[in-house]
Amino acid sequence: MDKPTVVISACLNGYFNRYNGGTVSDDNVNALKPHFELITICPEVEIGLGIPRKTVSLFKLGDRMEVIQRETGLNVTRQLIEYSEKTINSLPEVDGFILKAKSPSCGVKTAKVFGNREGTIILGKDDGIFPATVRKLRPHLPLIDEGRLNNRELRWEFLARVNLHFLFRQSSRDIKSLIDFHSRAKYLLMSICQKDLQTLGRILAAHRQGHAGETIENYRRVFHQILSRPIRKSNLLNALNHMFGYASPGLTPEERKHFLRLLELYRSGQTDFVTIIEFLRAYGYRFNLPYLLDQYLLKLE
Ligand code: SF4
Repeated sequence: MDKPTVVISACLNGYFNRYNGGTVSDDNVNALKPHFELITICPEVEIGLGIPRKTVSLFKLGDRMEVIQRETGLNVTRQLIEYSEKTINSLPEVDGFILKAKSPSCGVKTAKVFGNREGTIILGKDDGIFPATVRKLRPHLPLIDEGRLNNRELRWEFLARVNLHFLFRQSSRDIKSLIDFHSRAKYLLMSICQKDLQTLGRILAAHRQGHAGETIENYRRVFHQILSRPIRKSNLLNALNHMFGYASPGLTPEERKHFLRLLELYRSGQTDFVTIIEFLRAYGYRFNLPYLLDQYLLKLE
């Protein structure tokens, strides 16, 4: 398999399975589909609610999240949780999830949460049942919905995580491939957690001949720990600065000043990091820096 595997809400993948018998065609999702092996899911249809169906909503009643069909009073919380757990536990190895925004079943932090059965109190927004279960059972896997894919940085981060997970899966069969992966993932991992990156380096350094399985398992554990953390701006700035160090000697003082100003603009929220990555990529080509160009941080679109 030469593409990452991503789980997608069926209604974003051409199925007419929404509550009203409709589907959703989203340009950002459609543009990504050819890059992934897709596995479709539809929690509401799979638990037997049918098409079309009366809508369900997410409620926080006491300390429990409940999914209820308001018109009929039917409570489908248990069925949705059971379906989600069973589906996630029986999936082949996957690298991420693209789910439908705002749905009480699929929405990623976008499902409206009501505070009473009448629906007159809105408490805010949260995960639907399926993404909440993914976070519980596979906290290292990235989740996004079609709304967030509109944001260049969020899309980049999602794709970076999906690809990083996929590349690790492909490289974790033998030590030589894992060492190569570690070298190319260095700055991307640094942008998430420098301390854990060092732990990964120590695991590889401590490898003993004949103990490949043990080394790979130790690496996987810490790698998953890193993937369950967010990319922090300060860590990303640190990684970008380190990478700049490779190109910096060849640049004029004005070019160096310009790049450092860009970093400042990113720090203060006036530009995004995708722009800075483009500069680093251009420096890599200009000065023929294969180590820089091979970094996944610059390779991932
Ligand atoms: S949002 Fe989820 S539950 Fe609703 S139709 Fe789409 S896939 Fe099915």
